[in-house]
Amino acid sequence: MGIQKEMRPYVESHYPILYLVTFEKELADRAIHDLANGRKIFEWDMARGCVDFDNKAPLTPYMDLPAALENWLAQDLDYHFLVIGNADLALRNSPQAVARLEALARKVGTGAATVFLVSSQLYVPPELEMLITVFDQPKPGGADIARIIREHAASEPEGHGYDIDPEVIDKLVPAFRGLREYEIIRLLNRGYQQDGRVGEDDVELVIQQKRQIVKKRGILEMPSVVEGIDDIGGLAQLKAWLERKAKIMADLARAREFGVETPKGAVIVGMPGCGKSLTAKAASVRFGLPLLRLDIGALMGRYVGDSEANMRRALELAGDVSPCVLWVDEIEKAFAGIGGGASSSSEITSRLFGYFLTWMQEKTDPVFVLATANDVSALPPELLRKGRFDEIFYVDLPDEKERAAILDVHLRKRAQDTARIDARELASRTKGFSGADLECVVKDAIEEAFLNDKSGMSTEFLLRSIQGNTPQTATVERAADLRKKFESMGIKRASGE
Ligand code: ADP
Repeated sequence: MGIQKEMRPYVESHYPILYLVTFEKELADRAIHDLANGRKIFEWDMARGCVDFDNKAPLTPYMDLPAALENWLAQDLDYHFLVIGNADLALRNSPQAVARLEALARKVGTGAATVFLVSSQLYVPPELEMLITVFDQPKPGGADIARIIREHAASEPEGHGYDIDPEVIDKLVPAFRGLREYEIIRLLNRGYQQDGRVGEDDVELVIQQKRQIVKKRGILEMPSVVEGIDDIGGLAQLKAWLERKAKIMADLARAREFGVETPKGAVIVGMPGCGKSLTAKAASVRFGLPLLRLDIGALMGRYVGDSEANMRRALELAGDVSPCVLWVDEIEKAFAGIGGGASSSSEITSRLFGYFLTWMQEKTDPVFVLATANDVSALPPELLRKGRFDEIFYVDLPDEKERAAILDVHLRKRAQDTARIDARELASRTKGFSGADLECVVKDAIEEAFLNDKSGMSTEFLLRSIQGNTPQTATVERAADLRKKFESMGIKRASGE
């Protein structure tokens, strides 16, 4: 049971003021109660004034904090605990309260008593800096979350309880990570109210809640995603790798205990329109985690001086809503040309890049990073060095088998009867087409079929659509150049067994 253990030595060594930052007043009360061990506790909060610590009943007519402090200062406080709720609100703009609290701290310092400041926001008046020790209520870890869910199931509704599968708990735990206990309980209540049970489908509620947090800070995007791994045609090695990492991310606490490293993520490079962004999106769906998109280009913005602060805020936010998938889109646009001269913009880019690399190296939060880029030659080599990311993949134009799979994905996605279509024939006639080109072929053919023949789609419409969508020769040549480059660099293919 976390926080009181951390605080106990400070109480025992008579530190005068302990500041507990938490949204959950009950948890703070529990911790203070445990630490008190029979000591007398005085409490004040902004709403009620002086209250009885145990039942929160007001003890006197309302007093503001300076008055309450004056009252306490006049008493014998040896071995007492003094608890001040809403501390940030009460101390901001009240020099009188700050001055009296300072006097109180000096008094309790000699009498083995302790003052507890409790509030959801931290506000340390400069005059008291030397006297205050700050404790942050830790967010619940995996085992705590599982306990919270089990307790909810045992006590809802109105004490009757409902059944919850241990497997469902395993799925919910990673989604809830990063939230505070009261937020978790609120979401469990909402999930329960919607359909009388808490199930796997409630992961979506959790993701919505995280989306709110991201929106409020406005520095990262949180695209909604529907595509899953099955919506990716081909790229078998990349998909298999994602499957492995998904299993680890789903069972992270045990994996770590076993000695498995927390997955860091991958760089995915290669031809445009071949599924890099699609993979980042599908990964978040497979992992059951929110997807955050970091657009470094936008983040560097116009206000040059702000870009470092923005980068820091963005990465912090990713840590706060972790576990999550952080998709760093077109990373080469941001970090191209590093080391290319001493202009102030290249210096800033280098600093940002350094910051990003250090964060990658040192992050302990489960933020799974997928960085996508069209061309690696624009990327600084440090980024590709082993240890930053777990793996680097290159995607190529799809081969014949992959093309058939991609056509199949897009036909199924649009509710077409694939049994009527000769995917092999189509695949053999689409050499040089990217995934995005193939998607266009399908879309155009469906439109034509609708306009021309009410009997439905056929291979014929698709073949005609292929004629109208031939890729440029330059694309094929570029793909061959890139392939050579990636292979010479020892970068792993996303396709193949
Ligand atoms: P990029 O590699 O440039 O990030 P995208 O992943 O954005 O390309 O691909 C654009 C679109 O093309 C995708 O949204 C998807 O519909 C289609 N697409 C590309 N590659 C594939 C693929 N391997 N399987 C299925 N669809 C694909």
